[in-house]
Amino acid sequence: MDLNEFEHLSEATCPYCAKVLDLHAEVLQKGHGPKPGDVTICFGCVGICMFDENLQLRLPTDEEFNEVYQAVAPLQKLLHEFKGREVVP
Ligand SMILES: [Zn+2]
Repeated sequence: MDLNEFEHLSEATCPYCAKVLDLHAEVLQKGHGPKPGDVTICFGCVGICMFDENLQLRLPTDEEFNEVYQAVAPLQKLLHEFKGREVVP
């Protein structure tokens, strides 16, 4: 996993916090770019989002959330820790 491998993405807005995201890093699967149905984590609020058919972000359904949560939870933890280091006391 390498959080430095960011690629530009067409702008998409987080459905939780409305942050506009225009970068992504592929951490579970490499080299295919975001596709409809892919899972992503908002860098602003660390919420689990799904790419829709227009590569915009939407909330996961309960079923999708349950399906991906186990895989995504460690990444959420990592992002929380990464963001925690950015905070200036
Ligand atoms: Zn967000």
